[in-house]
Amino acid sequence: MSAVEHLYVHVPFCPRVCPYCAFYVMPADRRRSGPLVDALLEELRYRLRAVELRPRTIYVGGGTPSALGTADLERLIGGLVGLVGGAAEFTIEVNPTTLSPEKAGMLRAFGVNRASLGAQSFDPAALATLGRQHGPEKILRTFDILRAAGFANIGLDLIYGVPGQAEPRWWETLQSAVSLGPEHISAYCLTYEEDTPFFDRLAAGEWVRDEAREAGLFLGTRRALEESGYAAYEVSNFSRPGFESEHNLAYWRGRDYLGVGPSAVSTVGGRRWRAVADLGRYLAAAREGDWPEEEVERVDEDLRRRERMMFGLRTREGVGGHGFEDELGELRSAGYAEESCGRWRLTEEGLLRADAVAALFARA
Ligand code: SF4
Repeated sequence: MSAVEHLYVHVPFCPRVCPYCAFYVMPADRRRSGPLVDALLEELRYRLRAVELRPRTIYVGGGTPSALGTADLERLIGGLVGLVGGAAEFTIEVNPTTLSPEKAGMLRAFGVNRASLGAQSFDPAALATLGRQHGPEKILRTFDILRAAGFANIGLDLIYGVPGQAEPRWWETLQSAVSLGPEHISAYCLTYEEDTPFFDRLAAGEWVRDEAREAGLFLGTRRALEESGYAAYEVSNFSRPGFESEHNLAYWRGRDYLGVGPSAVSTVGGRRWRAVADLGRYLAAAREGDWPEEEVERVDEDLRRRERMMFGLRTREGVGGHGFEDELGELRSAGYAEESCGRWRLTEEGLLRADAVAALFARA
């Protein structure tokens, strides 16, 4: 088995849980931060007994890792570097309310070289609807802190399709993001995930989705970002040349990855598992040295090929189509996919239906 090159670390704390978020997260708890850091490092030590890891990418996400206090964050990042060394691409997710110049400087000193900043919007009303605790000025301030600390690769996350947001406010948000000059922009259409307050409000009829409007925002966003020098290298991801997220590309290319932390998923050597999504049980596992896994699944070659199609079609680099000639022929006839130089990609029409297209490749 060849070495695994991608490591994900899940920190399940956030300053406050956003009402649209379906990740395994909870309000930051300083009392449990220390034990969490110990447990994350202990799990990594445990996994490294069975997994050879030579990381090209490390992604510390969640959650909001920057919500950890400086000392705990330093212990986590320093501990990771001590166990696995650094990585050519070493990312941390940052929230606009949680980054001091000291934290940013410490992160750079440990070789963290990419920051993903959860801006979400520059529109105060949309930020309020999204339940965010920061206004646009905090985003600008955090961006400045990152740049001043020497981060030369910063991504901004944005959300469009926010209920009640007038369309011009979205284009202004996009313009504000571009004018900051980040290297990477992720622009997601708001999704209403089950078991979230937003899902309940939609189900109750308080909000109504307008899919035609969302499609217009999606296509307009792609065009606006492409015109501003951000190439769309995946459905929702845009970058300046050479600043694509290698970590995300690894997922979409079907590479193996190791995840540590409560709820983190790993796919290694034909096996996929999810660490227990329960902080109490996770901390107990660290004390007992027994790491429960959930949703264990065998990832055979057939499943790998199907997943490569599902994700690869959504990317600019595309994917080879061998073995899926019937499905791809169907997609081409409908105008949803095209082939060039042996690589298949979705057309704009196909991208609008990316989830339905993916279902074509799911195992029966
Ligand atoms: S900050 Fe991000 S991870 Fe945390 S609750 Fe909000 S959306 Fe979820």
